[in-house]
Order: sequence, then C-alpha cells, then structure tokens
Amino acid sequence: MTDSRTRQERAADPVTVLGLGAMGTALAGALLAGGHDVTVWNRTAARAEPLVARGARAAATVEEAVTASPLVIVCVLDDDAVHQTLGPVTPALADRALVNLTNGTPAQARATSAWATGHGAHYVDGGIMAIPPMIGHPGATVLYSGDQAAFATHRETLERFGAATFLGTDPGAAALHDLALLSGMYGMLGGFLHAVAMVGTEGGKAAEFTSALLIPWLNTMMTALPEYARQIDAGETGGHDSNLAMQSVGYVNLIEGSRAQGLRTDLIEPMRNLIDRAVAEGKGGEDLQGLVPLITAGPPAA
Ligand code: NDP
Repeated sequence: MTDSRTRQERAADPVTVLGLGAMGTALAGALLAGGHDVTVWNRTAARAEPLVARGARAAATVEEAVTASPLVIVCVLDDDAVHQTLGPVTPALADRALVNLTNGTPAQARATSAWATGHGAHYVDGGIMAIPPMIGHPGATVLYSGDQAAFATHRETLERFGAATFLGTDPGAAALHDLALLSGMYGMLGGFLHAVAMVGTEGGKAAEFTSALLIPWLNTMMTALPEYARQIDAGETGGHDSNLAMQSVGYVNLIEGSRAQGLRTDLIEPMRNLIDRAVAEGKGGEDLQGLVPLITAGPPAA
C-alpha cells in the first residue's frame, strides 16, 4: 500500500466519513478544509446537510459511501454502532483502508480488526485525544495502531485531524493508551470539579480560584510524576516523603471537611478507599506509588 506521491498530489484524495455526530462532523470538516474529496454518511441523513453545503457529497447508503473512497473513516457512538453500520456491507470493505476512530476497548479493537481483516480491509484503530473544536488545530492528537502500511499510506490525510501517533501493529494498542490517557484526564477533572465545589461553598469563584491557585498547584504536582513513574517502573514503592499511613489520616479531613461544607464525596472516596486498603495490608510505610500493585491485582474478591 505504499504511495510515492507528494503531499500536494494527495491533497484531494477521496475520503469517506461514516458517522456525523459532533466528532465525525469535525473530522469531515477538517478533510474539506484540507481540500479532500469527502463523501459522508450518517444514520440520520439530515446531519450531513451542513457538510454538503461546504462541499461534501452525501451518500444515500453505507455501501455507496464505503465504495466511494479507498480510505474509510468510521466515527460513531460505540462498537455496536460500528458493527450495525458496517455489518451489512462487508463485501464493500475489501481493499479499503478502514480507520475506526470510535472510542472502544482494546478487546473490541482486536475483534473488529480480525473481523474487518477477514473481509479484506486494511484495519487501523484510533483514539482521538481531542474534543471536536480542536480537530485540525494544534494540540489535537490521534493515536493509531494496526495495519502499518495502511497508516503510512494515509498518514498525511490523517494528519489533517492533528498529530498522528502510531503505537504499533497490535490493533488494541491505540485503545489501551486512549483509555489510559482518559483515566488521567478524568482523575484530574474529578479533582477540579470537587475543588471548585468546595471553594464555592464559601462564595469563592471557580474562575479566580482555578487561575490563581489550582493550576499553579497542579503544575507543581505534575513535576513529581516523572520520578513517581521511574519508581513504578523500578518496582520501588517510595516511603521517603509522604507515606500512606500519614495520607490515610490526612484524607479523613478531606472527606469530613467536604461533608461539613455540605458536599457529596463521590469523587474523592475511591482514592481514600485504596489508601486505607493499602494501610490495612501493611503498606503504610509506602508512598502513593505503592497503590499501583493494588490496582494491578484487580478488584477484591466479592
Ligand atoms: P455524538 O453523540 O455527537 O454522535 C454519535 C454518532 O453515532 C451519530 O452520528 C449517530 O448517528 C451515530 N450512531 C449512534 N448509534 C448508531 C447506530 N446504531 N448506527 C449508526 N450510527 C449510530 O458523538 P460524537 O460524534 O461526539 O462521538 C463519536 C465517537 O467519537 C464516540 O465513540 C466518542 O467516544 C468519540 N470521541 C468523541 C469526543 C468528543 O469530545 N465528542 C472526543 C474523543 C472521542 P445519528 O446522528 O443517526 O444518531
């Protein structure tokens, strides 16, 4: 699948986008802005209209959309929707590069890869690390894994969305790293939401608190992560600076202080539970890095 043409020669390569929710619309829009010949399809046909007004061609059926382009991008709600969309048109998939940017699990990516490859498609799975307004702008990254030749052939087209990072030929790798990054994001956002709610109980403004105090604090804490990560890779569990026994006592204040301000504690309870469990298992002398083996061990027996 190698393609020796210049970037300019590939500029108008035909691309199909299946799924025109907020994200699929942004993806198709970035391709149109890049000068591509874009065919679109959506289950609810009316959602194609704004893109058609910008120059896209609306296919009447999935089959027509898939056969219109050598590169087919699918971005629908979930894995079930991918299979409901493509299941009835498997003969059309042969020799297409199928890039699935629908959020899913590594197992779903591997199963969809085997299924699509079995129908002759060149399958690449992807994880979009951006929200729709970021697509096509600096800061957007999309993770890819799977068929390396198909990725290489269409790389420049895929870079219309943002930086394109290829993580290897295991089709599950992009989903694994996508979910890992999302867990980091939700952890940070959960902390942010609880923090602004807490300050708000006494009339504090979220905007002022966030700029003046929270962001500088989180940036400072971020500088500790490389050393934590090094220790985790080395199997070291810390125990030098902020031991878990101390943190388990201090965390009570976070819970009780929140309750006293009338707050729900859903977002902050899980970390406390894990710290307390570690202390109960005799790990009170370790630092937070010592929680990783507890997470890796899986859920406690019921
Ligand atoms: P939307 O809710 O805006 O759109 C969902 C899309 O999926 C619509 O095109 C919808 O079609 C389609 N769909 C749902 N069920 C089916 C089905 N059974 N058969 C065919 N099509 C179906 O979601 P987004 O566009 O925001 O998200 C799309 C994917 O992108 C998701 O996997 C999401 O996790 C991922 N993503 C989204 C981000 C975001 O910030 N928006 C960020 C990163 C990833 P219809 O119009 O007919 O309902």
